[in-house]
Amino acid sequence: MHVKAKELLKIYGSGENRITALDHASLEIAQGDFLSIMGPSGSGKSTLLHLLSGLDAPTSGSLFYDGKDIYRMNDRERSAFRRRNIGFIFQQFHLLPVLTARENILMPLLLERKQPEEAYVCELTELLGIADRITHLPHELSGGQQQRVAIARALVAKPDIIFADEPTGNLDSKSGGEVMELLTDIWKKTGRTLVVITHDSRIARMAERRFQITDGILSEVDGR
Ligand code: ADP
Repeated sequence: MHVKAKELLKIYGSGENRITALDHASLEIAQGDFLSIMGPSGSGKSTLLHLLSGLDAPTSGSLFYDGKDIYRMNDRERSAFRRRNIGFIFQQFHLLPVLTARENILMPLLLERKQPEEAYVCELTELLGIADRITHLPHELSGGQQQRVAIARALVAKPDIIFADEPTGNLDSKSGGEVMELLTDIWKKTGRTLVVITHDSRIARMAERRFQITDGILSEVDGR
């Protein structure tokens, strides 16, 4: 899937409280790219991620997925589009506490009324090293294991593109490093597009293409 964002502008509030959270950001993402977007707190990273993934609408600008302007879709069409094409990984994992790891992983399929492909679910949980933990509830798992469950959930519906918002932000540096290695591995093996938001330069450097955001202004960093 080819993503083209054109002049995305996001303004919050009005009058004295007016904030330009994202200032005419443009970028193109090819299928299989691995991007990092780095910037300090308050620089506009989450705003950009929400706009790029169709979770929130821009004040102005457009966003095309394979030539389709997703902000011209209605809310229902856009949510269906997101469920089918985009996987999310969040800093806070966002697992449902009353469901087992396996039930959490299968949630995106449930929402689409699809049956799980057991062989694929098995492959994912093996790859992520959580095969023996899938009957456990989230609170019975370590942070690193919870994030691996969340990664499996992001991948289970085989989305083209994965957005990870500070995926290691809640983990100690060892499990954070392991989670990033797994994500990089999965990116290499599957050819999915991976967009990682981070304020950690070590993580940003793992990506093929690096972007920097400062006060809502996005720019690509040259070289590695
Ligand atoms: P980051 O993810 O880099 O920390 P954000 O995208 O969350 O930055 O925020 C960018 C700017 O927009 C900040 O100044 C923040 O306070 C402001 N902002 C974010 N969300 C809202 C909102 N819902 N209402 C008002 N201001 C917001």
